Amino acid sequence: MKTVIFLGPPASGKGTQAARFSKMHGFLHFDMGKALREEAAGSSPLAEEIRSYTNAGRLVPNEAVRRLIQLMFAVNKERDIILDGFPRSMEQVGLLERLMAEAGRDLTAAVLVSLPESEIARRILNRRVCPVCGRVYNLVTMPPDSDEKCDDDGSPLEHRADDTEDVLNERLAVYKEQTQPIIGHYDSAGLLARVDGTAGVDDIGKQIEEVVFKA
Ligand SMILES: [Zn+2]
Repeated sequence: MKTVIFLGPPASGKGTQAARFSKMHGFLHFDMGKALREEAAGSSPLAEEIRSYTNAGRLVPNEAVRRLIQLMFAVNKERDIILDGFPRSMEQVGLLERLMAEAGRDLTAAVLVSLPESEIARRILNRRVCPVCGRVYNLVTMPPDSDEKCDDDGSPLEHRADDTEDVLNERLAVYKEQTQPIIGHYDSAGLLARVDGTAGVDDIGKQIEEVVFKA
């Protein structure tokens, strides 16, 4: 069974690639952010615990994360898995290693969708959102058919308040602080594979296939 970690900075297209790859190749796409939101929407004791943190704007503790991952491995014993949005810290790297050993899994690869900072900025600062349907556009890479209007409903597109240079710099600083040690860890273990996030969607997909299926 393959287990692949997807890493990448904001706007790298990591989530899109993870969704696309898992659909094409029958992998389970485990998106930690989504898993936490779905669990929190339910009525389990864990849901209540997760809500108590997210409602207070705090990070969900590793114990709740541990239970989610453990359950996910237990019900997907025979499946190839992509981990997206996890691990986020060196502590979570250690946690993942313990849970994978328990589940009898080896890490296939950690795929880093890399993007130069100038390109991250260009993508985020040119992002526009439809306030009616929520569809996301990019004036450079994915523009609407007609000038700053939604293709689906014609609404004027908006610039999200947090897509500014200040917020971007803050997010990049957090990303680097959290992710550099993780990248270094998998690199020295010989498990890191960098793919070029400036390439087209299909081309990035092919680069990822080469990494995952040669491993
Ligand atoms: Zn729209």
